[in-house]
Amino acid sequence: MSETSSGTPLLDQYESVKARYPGHLVLFRVGDFYETFGEDAKLLSRELDVVLTARSADAQGQRTPMAGVPQHAIETYLGRLVKKGYKVALCDQVEDARFAKGLVRREVTRVVTPGTVVEDGLLGGPDHNFLAVARAADSGPGSYALVDISTGEWHHGPADGPGIDGLATALAPFSPREILYAPAPHEGRSTDIPAVFRKEFPGARLEIAPPPMDALELPAGLRSEGEDGASADVADRILAAYVRSTQPRLLPYVAVVGGARERRRLVLDAKSLRHLEISRPMNPDDPHGATLIAAWDETVTAAGRRTLGFWLRAPLADLDAIVARQDAVEALGRRGAAIEEIRQSLTGIPDLARIASRLAGRRVRPPELAALRDGLTRAAALAGSLLAPSDPPLLEAVVRSIVPPPRLLERLRSALPDEPPATEAAGGLFRAGHSPEIDRWIATERAATDEMAALEAKEREASGIRTLKIGYNQVFGYYFEVSRSHLEKVPGHFRRRQTVAQAERFTSEALEEIERRILDARDHLRTEEAARWERFLAEIDADVPAIHRIGRGVGTLDTLLSFARVGERRRCVRPTVDLSSNLTIRGGRHPVLDRMLGERFVPNDTELDAQSARLLVLTGPNMSGKSTYMRQIGLIVVLAQAGSLVPAQFARVGLVSGLFTRMGFTDEIGRGKSSFMVEMTEVAEILRNADARSLVLLDEVGRGTSTFDGLAVAWATIRHLHDVTRCRAVLATHYHQLTQLVEGLSSARQAHLAVQERPEGIIFLHHLVPGSTDRSYGVHVARLAGLPKDVLAEAVRLLGQLEMEGVELPGRSRGTPTRQGKYTQAVLLSAEAPAAPSPIVEELASLEIDHLTPMQALAKLAELRRRARESQPSERAP
Ligand code: ADP
Ligand code: MG
Repeated sequence: MSETSSGTPLLDQYESVKARYPGHLVLFRVGDFYETFGEDAKLLSRELDVVLTARSADAQGQRTPMAGVPQHAIETYLGRLVKKGYKVALCDQVEDARFAKGLVRREVTRVVTPGTVVEDGLLGGPDHNFLAVARAADSGPGSYALVDISTGEWHHGPADGPGIDGLATALAPFSPREILYAPAPHEGRSTDIPAVFRKEFPGARLEIAPPPMDALELPAGLRSEGEDGASADVADRILAAYVRSTQPRLLPYVAVVGGARERRRLVLDAKSLRHLEISRPMNPDDPHGATLIAAWDETVTAAGRRTLGFWLRAPLADLDAIVARQDAVEALGRRGAAIEEIRQSLTGIPDLARIASRLAGRRVRPPELAALRDGLTRAAALAGSLLAPSDPPLLEAVVRSIVPPPRLLERLRSALPDEPPATEAAGGLFRAGHSPEIDRWIATERAATDEMAALEAKEREASGIRTLKIGYNQVFGYYFEVSRSHLEKVPGHFRRRQTVAQAERFTSEALEEIERRILDARDHLRTEEAARWERFLAEIDADVPAIHRIGRGVGTLDTLLSFARVGERRRCVRPTVDLSSNLTIRGGRHPVLDRMLGERFVPNDTELDAQSARLLVLTGPNMSGKSTYMRQIGLIVVLAQAGSLVPAQFARVGLVSGLFTRMGFTDEIGRGKSSFMVEMTEVAEILRNADARSLVLLDEVGRGTSTFDGLAVAWATIRHLHDVTRCRAVLATHYHQLTQLVEGLSSARQAHLAVQERPEGIIFLHHLVPGSTDRSYGVHVARLAGLPKDVLAEAVRLLGQLEMEGVELPGRSRGTPTRQGKYTQAVLLSAEAPAAPSPIVEELASLEIDHLTPMQALAKLAELRRRARESQPSERAP
């Protein structure tokens, strides 16, 4: 019975595989296609834009939908499915269809998920490809484990704080492609996990975690310092179990990387990463993609780009580890012009770690092993030329780490030809002299081929047919071909085999005898080569961890060089990183804008100190440069703690443990929360997580709401940061009403970005000056933006009127100027007594704001407003 006929056994087999792989898209090998049926067929057709067909009707007259993709293009299709977040089970024919009785046996030979791929075509670039486990705890921080199996790197640790947010923050710098989540055993709130992760990691595939692996089964690289794995976290064991079920061959080669010091990282949650535009621009349509990584990456290898990206997304929070990187960068910088030579040697080193993972997963192609050989040769030469006696420890360790094991290099060199064939099937996998057995079969084949050529010449001579030639095809094998015009000269010992358009094809006893020897030699050669190849891969397999290590070394060296080079070319300095609570920057520049604007960028100073000047409140008009200045501070800290030089004349960075940044809230629109609610949630999150070593950068606090709500929240937030958190913080606000209040705080400073007024308009100087400003120049900005003249005129008129009238609190009689002068100041907590004190005002006056949380303050404010409105319905606030 043909497999593709309308019988149901094939479908039954498919269904039984599907039942064993729930949640997978099962691609079922039938002939030269991978097929899907039923609902999956519709899905496949939709997602891959392939034709949806139907199997012919079964006994009940049912026609099952069917869609498939050709086997030869499977990697392309897999790439697209995986990118869309599907988990695909490839179900292959595991016996030869010719010998199968009835249905061919099929088994799932591979499960492909976004986080477990090693093929270049599926990885889509050199960046890390992390698979994560996030495990919530009943109380306190949960734990996580991550692996990039394409490089063997494993990371793990406790979450960066309690609850789901702590887990999300811990995972953020890795931007995992796939997350397995384990809810806390008893807490119901954990069911929020998928929702939170979906929001924080929109590109990641989410799945509930499988049961953990037994600790004793963990690979050696995960057992810390001679332990038996008993101390491994459940997160590690879950991750190991998942790797075993998807890429079992790779599990033995994963290993925890980095020392304890390097694992101490600056806490940077997903929102801060986004707001600082470290790897992605806030505006995804931004054509220039002005990110920190884009501006700072001068690496020349795939490993370097991966490492640099990771270092900038996950800066350090350990002083020694930071200083070690700085020392290495400085030592490289001192080599001056030699930097270019080192880069030259690095250029062309392939992605060694990934080749190693493909080797371990048996998905490596012969040319990749030649590239491995050549890359290792380069690395060895480079290491030799780089070793210098006085190098700082990290640089020395990196240089030593790229020295390949001599045995591995020897094996690759003696086995592989200079240019191996593109695929294993092509033959010619080994260099002559590598295997006497293979050489013998090659010689046998060659001798027989020579004999065949001699036979051709002989028969041509004897028959006098000058066009007689020997050819070959798959079906008939070797033949003599004689064109029609010479048929009468065909000798008697030729036997006819095939007729083609203009010729006849013959064989002879002698030809058949040689053919047998050729085919026999080839057969042996192929079998022998395949077996030898398997053995060869198994031999070099043992060095996969060493290649992973070399790959990491190359990435580190490339990144350190890039830091040294960028630092030199962009007039950067080595920042003093210490355990002080200072943040001093002189002549600081925004690393990305500085590059784009060049000379036109205006450098600025920063002077924060958790003791005496921990809080800076920035006021000033739109477009004056507040956001730029705040991002500049954040990015300089990120660069400093990543070990890089920083764009400034001088910088001192007292170690920052966590960097919390909120910049505008536009990215949340359309996610089902009002922007004020989002802002409140985010501010609450920061206040919960920040500590004295944090740096908090808040742009436009309290923007998403009407004046008084926002003002109250902004004020309460400032108080909390100043009095309770006591961390370094910069806040930008358009509430110039706050300035009076901030004056009362002992360790707060105010500044604004200078503006020059000219008769024709205003000029933004982008220069930071002490003190606040109450000018907003909104109308001027509108003019700059090109608003029509009549609209502008009306705005100017209205502005004048408003400035005369002032902003009012409910309860104040209308039209009383609250303050003399051109511009209006805050009245929220004005000392001026109202004409008739109302209970609301009295309560307001006695309110102990210091003891209120922002949320309480907000609630109180809402209550006061409600009462105010109720008492004076005629004077509704706008
Ligand atoms: P704000 O947050 O005050 O509205 P931004 O920080 O968004 O202002 O800056 C507005 C624009 O001003 C930026 O896009 C940039 O082009 C320019 N700018 C900001 N700071 C500087 C600076 N220090 N030097 C030169 N140009 C700057
Ligand atoms: Mg701004």
